[in-house]
Amino acid sequence: MTQVLLLGGTFDAYVLSTLLHASGIAGVYSYAGATQTRRTPALPMRVGGFGGVEGLLAYLRDKQITHVIDATHPFAAQMSRNAIAACAAAGIPLLSMERPGWSQQAGDHWIQVPDMAAAEQALRPDDRRVFLAIGRKQLAAFAGKAEQHHFVLRVVDRTEEALPLPADSHELIVARGPFRVEDEIALLKRHAVDCIVSKNAGGADTYAKIEAARALRIPVIMVDRPQLPQRLRCQTPEQAMGWLKSLL
Ligand code: NAP
Repeated sequence: MTQVLLLGGTFDAYVLSTLLHASGIAGVYSYAGATQTRRTPALPMRVGGFGGVEGLLAYLRDKQITHVIDATHPFAAQMSRNAIAACAAAGIPLLSMERPGWSQQAGDHWIQVPDMAAAEQALRPDDRRVFLAIGRKQLAAFAGKAEQHHFVLRVVDRTEEALPLPADSHELIVARGPFRVEDEIALLKRHAVDCIVSKNAGGADTYAKIEAARALRIPVIMVDRPQLPQRLRCQTPEQAMGWLKSLL
């Protein structure tokens, strides 16, 4: 019997859970639990890590999973690597669903870097006020620059967890997309932002900051997606459904 493991954490994963449920395909939606969920998926949900590759492998066997769809965020590289290794070991077909990245448009001024360490290195002394639109997890990469720059941070949830930057080096905005261009322009002006650091997440929900940067001629240090081993990929929930149905 078909039993899909859908590794979620993105809006597209939520959409796919709805399509699976509507097609009567059994599955489990797995959520890391790092942030509060905004939407309840249509499939039964499990929350929390599996315990690395070994833990995931044990889960796949225990729950008799027949297919895995990795619909995690393009920067959730550890989960994606674990899925590749565990599915190979278990002989279970794996599909990675990943929306396209953004590409530079006329009027954009991007400095493209491979990772967060390179983003920190790319900050210039003139970038006094920096909008770190990178979430919470990789802020520590900028701790060494906290005396030279002032950071504007944006995270999706307020948590008790201390941030790895000195309190006087930053201000914190708690907000969840989608964001509108006019609001992003207002935010960049209000905080007198000189430079933005962004992950190349792709998708529409968080693209407005890139359009706002273009309008205000603000440079964007754009962090490329992590490199992952070769795997079967698609871009949309509909394509993922097509792949699954072709195997049933
Ligand atoms: P990560 O670094 O790849 O994952 C760290 C660990 O979290 C994994 O090794 C795994 O723990 C657990 N995990 C991640 N996704 C999981 C899932 N869907 N179900 C069960 N366990 C999961 O990922 P991350 O960057 O921390 O992201 C965590 C979640 O937030 C992902 O689901 C991702 O889609 C979502 N998210 C991430 C970003 C981002 O920018 N990174 C942005 C938006 C949403 P074990 O090794 O114990 O199994």
